Amino acid sequence: MATLTAEIKKRSKKAPVRGMMDNVMEQFETAANKINLHPNIKKILSITNNEIIVNFPVKMDNGDVEIFTGYRVQHNNALGPYKGGLRYHPTVDIDAARALAMWMTWKTSLAGLPYGGGKGGIKLDPSKYSQGELERITRRFTFALADNIGPEHDIPAPDVNTNSQTMAWMADTYMSTRPPAERTANQHVVTGKPAGSGGLEGRDRATGYGVYLSIKFWAEKNNESLKDKRFIVQGFGNVGYWAAHFLEQDGAKLVAVQDASGSIRNSSGIHVEDLFNYSKANNGHVSGFPEAFDLDNEKFFRTECDICIPAALGNQITKDNAKIIQARLIAEGANGPTNVEGEKILLERGITIIPDILCNSGGVVGSYFEWLQNRSGELWQLDEVMAKLHKKLKESFDKVYDYATVEGIDMRTAAYCIAIQRIEKAYIQRGIFP
Ligand code: NAD
Repeated sequence: MATLTAEIKKRSKKAPVRGMMDNVMEQFETAANKINLHPNIKKILSITNNEIIVNFPVKMDNGDVEIFTGYRVQHNNALGPYKGGLRYHPTVDIDAARALAMWMTWKTSLAGLPYGGGKGGIKLDPSKYSQGELERITRRFTFALADNIGPEHDIPAPDVNTNSQTMAWMADTYMSTRPPAERTANQHVVTGKPAGSGGLEGRDRATGYGVYLSIKFWAEKNNESLKDKRFIVQGFGNVGYWAAHFLEQDGAKLVAVQDASGSIRNSSGIHVEDLFNYSKANNGHVSGFPEAFDLDNEKFFRTECDICIPAALGNQITKDNAKIIQARLIAEGANGPTNVEGEKILLERGITIIPDILCNSGGVVGSYFEWLQNRSGELWQLDEVMAKLHKKLKESFDKVYDYATVEGIDMRTAAYCIAIQRIEKAYIQRGIFP
């Protein structure tokens, strides 16, 4: 059997730049060795089940036709239907989709959900397209994926630059192209829909709430309070904003923010709702916020703080900046924000990392609630949803924290070990067809 390391080397020849897939494979290898994962299961989990690439034409506002490339990677479905987001970003490619799909498999397993892992998106910069063009791109992409997604097969959700509106277009397109008798029974083909169209009350804040709760649980384990703790956030979108919102409610102080437009800092504190209202009126951007100073992007991670929340893209904390981070805690809102080299430096410096597959799992747990609600025809209230989220995330946090403490390992490896063991058990119980 070709080892994972050999596989990484083979791919590295083709792609000299260290990609997200190299990170996820290395993280997997560490955990697999730790738990002595059965070699057959290791073979299965090292590869993706299906990789779908679609090229599709869309008519632009000026009458021209543009061709787009969309991806959907389905990593593993041993525990249930594939589940994971779709992102619209220039960095979307097959390598990123594979890595993100694999992370989803671990995340859904760790959370104890009946799902596998998938991920995808379209390689594009959405800021270059009108709302009408984005709607047509989304509908045509959904049509192109058609038979490869489905409410009991593969269930997409929002991710970077996609939102509840994107999911409403997807659900509508999918349902409209089914035979009449199947239409309404298919709205759970996607989650993260608007609350008025089959969405879950609170799904919008579920991921950020989970990031906040992970930080709160960590503080409680250390007999600390969040009051006056200084935090910085990279990415002030859905995840970054909601995490900041809940932390501020507990008395923590937001002191710096970085997004695609630049970085800002105010050591006396940035009022989260003021910044949110400013960014809403400013194309979603934080730069130029009048109640803070603009900061050079390279100085962002150098900001004095207690907690750092990367909530934008992958590969943001690397060997180049891990040395300058001042925080004692990294709470990974984004998927894969810390690469293996960056993590090594952080751990050597005694900095705790709450790993993505635990820290941002509130989103997929919220999606699961939405899916259940659609399947059973129920409508859940916001307070009910938040209480259920709290319970589920506390169970996951305690499981990972206790495993890491008992085994004397970092929280990421602990989270991977728990997640992979659950999948291994399912394969051992079921065997391999035929
Ligand atoms: P979003 O599109 O709402 O926000 C993304 C933010 O990142 C924006 O503020 C944008 O300006 C910023 N950003 C983009 N490029 C940047 C760059 N180069 N430097 C700094 N900031 C940059 O996306 P989101 O839904 O908040 O997702 C953020 C991260 O969280 C992603 O990694 C996503 O995979 C992960 N995540 C999201 C969810 C969810 O439910 N939305 C769930 C789990 C994980």
